[in-house]
Amino acid sequence: MLGETRYQYLVSYVVNDRVAIDAGCLGFGFPLAAQKLVTDLFLSHCHLDHVATLPIFLDNVFEYGPECVVVHGSEQTLSVLQQDVLNDRLWPDFVSLSTPSSAFLKLHELAASKPVTVGEMQVTPLPLIHVVPVFGFLIEDPTSAVAIISDTHHGSDVWTHLARVPNLKAVLLECSFPDRLDWLADKARHLIPRSFAAEIQSLPTSVRVIAIHIKPAWYEAVVDELLALGLPNIEIGQTGTEYQF
Ligand SMILES: [Zn+2]
Ligand SMILES: [Zn+2]
Repeated sequence: MLGETRYQYLVSYVVNDRVAIDAGCLGFGFPLAAQKLVTDLFLSHCHLDHVATLPIFLDNVFEYGPECVVVHGSEQTLSVLQQDVLNDRLWPDFVSLSTPSSAFLKLHELAASKPVTVGEMQVTPLPLIHVVPVFGFLIEDPTSAVAIISDTHHGSDVWTHLARVPNLKAVLLECSFPDRLDWLADKARHLIPRSFAAEIQSLPTSVRVIAIHIKPAWYEAVVDELLALGLPNIEIGQTGTEYQF
C-alpha cells in the first residue's frame, strides 16, 4: 500500500520481495530497487485502483533481455489489460513489442484454486464475488500462509478454503464502505463492517485480520465501526508498512 498517508488510495502488496499482488501503486509507491526484485505480479482484477501503475511498473523494470516479469491474471483480467490498457492508445502494446530475446512481460492465465509456484512460495487464486471476476490470493511459504481477499462481496466460499489452510497467520480483507452505505456496497459488491464481521466468523481468533481497501471518503466512519465490533484480532491496515507473519 502507498506510504506517506493513512488513506488506502491504491492497492499493491509485495510479498517476500518476489511476488507482487496488484499494481495500483507498485510503479509509484515502491522504491525502484524493490520494483526490480519483483518477478511475478498477480492481478486480482482490472479495476483501476488495482492496475493504475501497471504500465509504469513495466516500464520501470524493463531491461533488454529474455528475463521479464510474469503477469498472472484471470482470462478476463488479461483480456481487459490487453484491450483497454496495453492497447497502443493508452499505453504501448508491450505484449506485441515483446520478443523471445527481449520481453516486457509474459502473461499467464490463472485457473481458480490452481496454485502457482514462485520460488519457495505457492500462490493460489481463490474466486471472490464482485462486479467483475476477481481472484483473492492465498500465499504460502515454508513458515506461514497469508490471504489477500479484495475486492469482494459477502457470500464467496473462500472461507471454507481458508479453514483448511495450516499455518494461516493473517487475512487482509477489504472493507470499503460504512454500514449506512449497505445499499452501495450491495451494488458495487464490496463489504461493510457488518458483513466484514460475518465473513470472518469462521476464522480462529488467532488469525490476524487486517482491514484494507477502506475508501478514503469514508475512512474515519469505517475505522470507527470496525473497531466498535470489539473483535480482538481486527487491525486497520497501515499503508507503507512491512508486516511479518
Ligand atoms: Zn474492484
Ligand atoms: Zn478495488
